[in-house]
This record gives sequence, structure tokens and C-alpha cells, in this order.
Amino acid sequence: MPDLCLTVDLEPDCPPYLSGWTGVELGMPEVLDLFARNDVLATVFATGESAERYPDLIRRIVDAGHELGCHGHSHRSFSELGPDEAERDITRSAELLRGFAPVTSFRAPYLDFPERYVPLLEAHGFTIDASRGRYKPAHWFRKQAVSPVRRIPASTTSSVLRTPPALRDLLFRLMRPPVVLFVHPWEFVDQSGAPIPWDCRFGTGSPALASLSSTIAFFARRGHRFVRMTDLPVAD
Ligand SMILES: [Zn+2]
Repeated sequence: MPDLCLTVDLEPDCPPYLSGWTGVELGMPEVLDLFARNDVLATVFATGESAERYPDLIRRIVDAGHELGCHGHSHRSFSELGPDEAERDITRSAELLRGFAPVTSFRAPYLDFPERYVPLLEAHGFTIDASRGRYKPAHWFRKQAVSPVRRIPASTTSSVLRTPPALRDLLFRLMRPPVVLFVHPWEFVDQSGAPIPWDCRFGTGSPALASLSSTIAFFARRGHRFVRMTDLPVAD
């Protein structure tokens, strides 16, 4: 049975363009309800800041059986951080999040994580790095450091889920297992009037929730098993 990881990046609204938290407050509860209705276990990569602001929501995520992962502390791009700042960001966010659950999976903001920082993950007890994207040129051309940390790239970017089903399902059929999809809570709040790029804006709000629901149905029909990233079997 092919495995699929549904992942959520819990963060402020559409960084770096906006700075509110409507997605976390209004979108995330709807996503969690949808997961519960469909018996989906997911991995939620949360920023340290989101855990500071919304501890009850983090507890709800953990109590529902989802994996809690780390998405850095304040959603700054790691390629803009010096070694000391990078270490502080990882230390602070890991410490905060581990107050709620064991946290061993990491995804860098903007899927931007320089290879030179991979040893920091190992030193801080992370076993999975989900910071790469199969659709990103950096994934094709950047040499991957040898590390015991498992690298599990995202299959596609989040806006693909909001494209018309005829196109979207065609792309889904081409994906190699394990399929790794990601969404952001702010996509489930109407962003049509927000000053953000078009690909962040189109199909947001209730259409995005319908898209996520039909995505789950698509893969369920094809016999996929929804697993937390930490439960993904190690490939031979
Ligand atoms: Zn993010």
C-alpha cells in the first residue's frame, strides 16, 4: 500500500507578506476537523512562535495523534541566518515544541535550509529533514550532505492542491511514493483581497478546504495510507 504524508506548516499568515494569525485561529481548526472526519494522521510543522501563542491548539494537534514537527522559531529564512543565529533558532523552537510532544522531524521555513546546517539537526536530536522539495531546482542541483538525518522531500508545492482537479489529479498520478503534500492554515482563510502573490491567493478560503478534502478522497480511492512522517518506513 503506497504511503502518503499530509503535512501542515503552522505559521503566521502568508510570510513574508503578511503577519497576522487568522490562518492559525480560523483555518487550522477546520483542517483538524477534516482530518478527524477522514481518519487522517498528519505531521504538523509548527513554528516556536505559534506554540508560544497557541498552546491549546498545539495540545489539540498532539491529542488527536498527529506528529508535531518543528518549522523553526520565527519563520526566518535559514540562508539569511549566521551559524549562531541558526543554532539559536533551532534550540529555541525545539525546546518550546518538546514541551508538548517528542519532536524529531524538521522543515525549514520557505523550504530553504543550507546543507551546512544539516549537522545542527543531528546535534539537536532530529532524525528527519523535510526541507527539500522535489519541484525545487535546489533539490536537483545541490549536493546532499552525508548525514544520518533522513531527507524526505515534498512532492509538490502547496498551491497545486488548489488548481482545477483535472490538472491536479494528473500531477498527483505522476508522483512517486512516498507522496508528501503540504498546506498552510492561512490557505483556508479567504486571501482574495490580500496583497500577496497570485499563487498564494487563488482558491483560498472554503474552496481550499474542498480541494484538500477531494485530495484526501483521490488518494484514499487509490489505496494510499496516510502516515505521519515519523512512521514512514525506511526505504530499502
Ligand atoms: Zn513556512
